[in-house]
Amino acid sequence: MQDKILIIEDEERIARFVELELTHEGYVAHKAADGLEGLEKAVGGGYSLILLDVMLPHINGMEVLRRLRQHPPPAGDTPVIMLTARDATTDKVYGLDGGANDYVTKPFAIEELLARIRALLRKKSSALTCRGVSLDPERRTVSANGREIDLTRREFDLLRHLMENKDIVQRRETLLTRVWGYDYSGETNSVDVYIRYLRAKIEEPLGMKLIHTVRGVGYVVRD
Ligand code: CA
Repeated sequence: MQDKILIIEDEERIARFVELELTHEGYVAHKAADGLEGLEKAVGGGYSLILLDVMLPHINGMEVLRRLRQHPPPAGDTPVIMLTARDATTDKVYGLDGGANDYVTKPFAIEELLARIRALLRKKSSALTCRGVSLDPERRTVSANGREIDLTRREFDLLRHLMENKDIVQRRETLLTRVWGYDYSGETNSVDVYIRYLRAKIEEPLGMKLIHTVRGVGYVVRD
């Protein structure tokens, strides 16, 4: 299947150039010329990756990123490469803090941008493994010691987020935002409930510990 890439960029000349290059590389490329249009497409368009300019009309790239990351997966965790102005170090820092996966500085060499895109798409589709548990983000399957485990969408997204952040403690609030989405109005104990489901499906049958509780904070997956 071809990867769909969204270019959110108000400079038509750059957007058009990148679109042509991406199409040439075999990607499906779509454009958005301002922050609001970009966010709308990013949330509903099923993109594999987003190229996001910082300076945009209506809402800027940082705000687009912030709002995008408040949506549940798969839209909310779409890989984002920020296009930042030269020497705008603060943009890079804010961008990476705000959940950008990478950034390139304008003016950029198209080969460099294509290399960053390939690297992120590879990372996105490569299997995550930990303690005999293997999670395939592309096929949305999980297996433990070679046996497939049937997970609901929410259980899968929660496990995926934990495995992507192996050895990094995830606060309950972070998990709620990244897995349930910001408009979720329930309690943080939903996280505890779903952790119990995952343990019952994965840890108990295998007799091992994958997800560790960090008292008063949250959860972490450790090898
Ligand atoms: Ca711009």
